[in-house]
Amino acid sequence: MALADVLIIGGGLTGCATAYHLARAGASVVLIEQGDINAGASGQNAGSLHFQIERRFLENGEAMAEQASQMVALNRLAIDEWTSLEHELGCDLEVAMGGGLMVAETPGEMDLLQRKAAREARWDLGTRLMDGDGARAIAPYLAGKIVGATYLAQEGHANPRSVTPAFARSAVAAGAVIMTQTALRSLEKKGSYFEAHAEKVDAPLTIRASQVLVAAGAWTAWVGTLVNLHLPVYAAGLTMNVTERTAPFMPHLIQHVGRRLSMKQAHNGNVLVGGGWPSRLVQKPEGGFDLSRRPILIDESVRGNLRAAVDTVPCTARLSLIRSWTGTVAITADQLPLLGEVPQLPGFYVAAGGSGFTLGPTFARFLARQMGGSDLQTEIFKIYSPERFQHLNVFMG
Ligand SMILES: Cc1cc2nc3c(=O)[nH]c(=O)nc-3n(C[C@H](O)[C@H](O)[C@H](O)COP(=O)(O)OP(=O)(O)OC[C@H]3O[C@@H](n4cnc5c(N)ncnc54)[C@H](O)[C@@H]3O)c2cc1C
Repeated sequence: MALADVLIIGGGLTGCATAYHLARAGASVVLIEQGDINAGASGQNAGSLHFQIERRFLENGEAMAEQASQMVALNRLAIDEWTSLEHELGCDLEVAMGGGLMVAETPGEMDLLQRKAAREARWDLGTRLMDGDGARAIAPYLAGKIVGATYLAQEGHANPRSVTPAFARSAVAAGAVIMTQTALRSLEKKGSYFEAHAEKVDAPLTIRASQVLVAAGAWTAWVGTLVNLHLPVYAAGLTMNVTERTAPFMPHLIQHVGRRLSMKQAHNGNVLVGGGWPSRLVQKPEGGFDLSRRPILIDESVRGNLRAAVDTVPCTARLSLIRSWTGTVAITADQLPLLGEVPQLPGFYVAAGGSGFTLGPTFARFLARQMGGSDLQTEIFKIYSPERFQHLNVFMG
């Protein structure tokens, strides 16, 4: 195979969207995916487009909340991205941006919301803080015990089963080559290019490219070891639930500042309930996690998640749960996205972590620009550079 400009490892949202932007900019792109397109977290997630500072950044003290507030700049870019995405890709992705409420049910949680809203205001995010009655005026289905909320008009959701395939189709139309059932087995830098050995079903394949992007989600750390690098990305299992269909009643994304909860009503009427409840990664007998298998559902997670849903939106108690599933997400050591070129290995880029459904299209636009040599919006993206973990690799040779 001729030398490609870019080899992308991973056919999730990040990989497919970056392939699209690179191919549109004229680069020759080969993307390999070990399974099918969208088979990883990108096709298993809750589909929330959340732009308020996430609860997980608020529950670990002021320092983390302050650091995370810088992500609002990224979230604002993501709002623009999602507003125009269906037009850009020319298809229906069930993008609904009807507003989102992050609710509180205790004075302590209200205090958390107040501090969050103040941080968001400093970064020009148009969040509105309101009391319980104000929240119920917007979302009458909220429980009487909700004492307040922050509201952001642009939040919402999209269909995770549509978005990545749409990017993949557009990438191919722009000239990218996408190979599914093709697993990376080894990777080596040979002078000015990278040489990858992959396996398509049982046939070996060699691909050479000037640049490599690792968009391998929970497998990122493993890919790093192929080129002797520590990439501090960890796998975690999450839980999702969905109810039977019902008539439209919830046009918003609902999150809870004090409990693990995200809720939305999908286009077809089902109510999706998630919010970060754990599932258990499958352990290999010899040690380590088996990421080729779906994490194991934990009963308490399903119950806890549904309890939070019914407490927040009581009318959902009458709906039957029709399915629960698990997915594997990638978390970085400091919970911030890991995005950009790895300083120790010029030409080697990584994109992992963060709320990658909400932010994936934004990551992709940035990466394509950076890989193409025009490093725009450097300030916004600087804090996500792999440079911050350089200390892990100084002894790696
Ligand atoms: C249950 C759940 C709910 C979530 N909810 C939300 C949400 O509501 N909003 C939000 O913003 N984010 C959410 N997320 C996070 C979001 O889904 C991920 O951050 C995002 O999808 C990551 O996309 P990705 O392309 O980086 O990774 P993935 O979609 O995981 O794709 C990585 C791909 O790389 C492939 N790969 C790995 N190793 C190799 C190899 N050796 N060779 C070839 N291919 C390889 C994998 O097969 C996989 O398809 C959720 C995640 C989960 C699991």
